[in-house]
Amino acid sequence: MTDDLKPARLRLAPSPTGEPHVGVLRTAIWSWLYAKRTGGQFLLRIEDTDQTRLVPGSVERIIRSLDWLGLTYDEGPDIGGPFAPYTQSERLPMYQEAAARLVQSGNAYPCFCSSEELDALRARQQAEKRATGYEGKCRVIAPAEAAARAAAEPHVIRFAVPREGATTVEDLLRGPVVVENRTLDDFVILKSDGFPTYHLAHVVDDTAMEITHVTRGDEWLPSAPRHALLFDALGYPRPIYVHNPVILAPGGGKLSKRHGAKSALEYAEDGYLADALVNFLCITGWGHGDETVMSREELTRVFDIKDISLAPATFDTEKLNWMNGVYLRQMPEQQLAELFAQRLEIDLPPDVPRPLDRSFVEEFTPLIRERVQLLTDVLPLVDFFYQSVVATPPVEEFLAKKWKDQPQATADALDAAADDLDALDDWDAETLEATLRATAERVGARAGDLFTLVRLAVTGKTITPPLFESMVIVGTGPSIDRVRAASAAVRASI
Ligand code: GLU
Repeated sequence: MTDDLKPARLRLAPSPTGEPHVGVLRTAIWSWLYAKRTGGQFLLRIEDTDQTRLVPGSVERIIRSLDWLGLTYDEGPDIGGPFAPYTQSERLPMYQEAAARLVQSGNAYPCFCSSEELDALRARQQAEKRATGYEGKCRVIAPAEAAARAAAEPHVIRFAVPREGATTVEDLLRGPVVVENRTLDDFVILKSDGFPTYHLAHVVDDTAMEITHVTRGDEWLPSAPRHALLFDALGYPRPIYVHNPVILAPGGGKLSKRHGAKSALEYAEDGYLADALVNFLCITGWGHGDETVMSREELTRVFDIKDISLAPATFDTEKLNWMNGVYLRQMPEQQLAELFAQRLEIDLPPDVPRPLDRSFVEEFTPLIRERVQLLTDVLPLVDFFYQSVVATPPVEEFLAKKWKDQPQATADALDAAADDLDALDDWDAETLEATLRATAERVGARAGDLFTLVRLAVTGKTITPPLFESMVIVGTGPSIDRVRAASAAVRASI
């Protein structure tokens, strides 16, 4: 701990209805950093109380996402901890006990209204252009009668919101948020299947788990007064609330997949580094002066939750890509080569034998490291190193620019290059360049124009890592064979 902030306990509380996307990931990053900054704890709690929305495999993917991002948690469903279990469906007795206590104290009551009745109520309210919400029909049932009926009839438990007054919630970013109680209806806290709603489960668990700061998306801000009322009615101290603003798409509006609303594992698949994504998401909506590239250690030293900006941030994919490139270039060469190799093992066609030869990858890593932003950029830069015979590109690609309409001169130039390369004893970049410069002069071409032909022949592409260094890696035989194949193809077209 670097200063006198009290050790904080924060949690990520995703519902296993899919994979956490950037908004939730950013909340996780901020919570994790603040826990680290204060010498506190970060924990994972799975909120699976809406059994109809569960998506199989979500919990595993949430755990894998946090693991990939390096957001280690101190307590969680898979590792346990002092307040286990950390999965809400395993904590039902605690919610039921809290609900019973609220009924006992007159702060909650069983409601026997059927869903048809509630639908009809809502339709009536809508037709009359009134606010929708439960109007308290069962609130007036005498407690003894309600208890007797509850023993026999299906019911939910509703919280009895005070009819008068106002509730004030302190939000760390916004200050006091005041809501008139009459605008809140008697919301459900325990469903008829015995599962709690989010409202009750949040209050019970965040109290039981001694959470100091509840960090969550600001879509929960309208519910916060309900939670405050629940904390008060249960006699629990309220936590500090931090409702994070949304991340917007460039130009405003909801962030779509195209603009970056992806999950952590999708970012991993798309060639991003966890460190870059953590850095980028952390500074999307929070800042420390003009600094952009900040290591985890640095962020841990300076991140303060109260400095989160209330203005919704915009997701800037270009900045993320740039940052990813910066992180890649900062990496020691051998570590980078290992990452490239791992990525190529995913991306190369299956006929290339695995595991890839690491020392071969180390040979070309320096040639491409400046050109890679995402790990997915690697394959198109280096695939020709892995093809024993690179398919000769269509003849028209050779007969372009300076070589347009000159198939004879093109084929002659390629042959001359192949002959000169064939005569070499040394096969290093300097020799190759000097040789091909001399060839160009001999055939009356500009060096650059000849290099273009040779590049296309040897690599099959117009844009590649530096040509001569690449030819060293491709090797003598294959390089010359590819140049001759290109010349033959051009000649055949005459
Ligand atoms: N389970 C809630 C959700 O996924 C969590 C909100 C919270 O962090 O309290 O939206």
